[in-house]
Amino acid sequence: MNNFEVMLREHNLKATKQRIGILSIMEMRGHINIEELYEKIKKSFPSISLATLYKNMHLMLENKLLTEVGVKNSKTLYEITKEDHAHMHCEKCNEVVDIDFDFENITDNLDNKNGFILKDTQVIFSGICKSCK
Ligand SMILES: [Zn+2]
Ligand SMILES: [Zn+2]
Repeated sequence: MNNFEVMLREHNLKATKQRIGILSIMEMRGHINIEELYEKIKKSFPSISLATLYKNMHLMLENKLLTEVGVKNSKTLYEITKEDHAHMHCEKCNEVVDIDFDFENITDNLDNKNGFILKDTQVIFSGICKSCK
């Protein structure tokens, strides 16, 4: 079993070849929109339809194996779920980069002071990246 098979099974999903293909592209690319993913997955699975891809993505999102990343003025991006992190988004080239972020202080406040039940966090820093500067 490869890593992706394990990941899929841990999320109660069948480890199909297509899903493994999707995950390996996503791991390589980091953050990807559905159109780009579709272009890439078609190279390994020429007969896959966009509807099938959406269906698979939806399932993996539902089971929290994938996470949606919403950036300003850009298509929704997807990534393989990992530890809490923030994103830097370049407004010029649209590149999205993961960065470490200390969520604990903030989430402790939410919980202890405001009695808020946190379910999802997204922190996105927008700006201009080094190579676009
Ligand atoms: Zn840039
Ligand atoms: Zn990320």
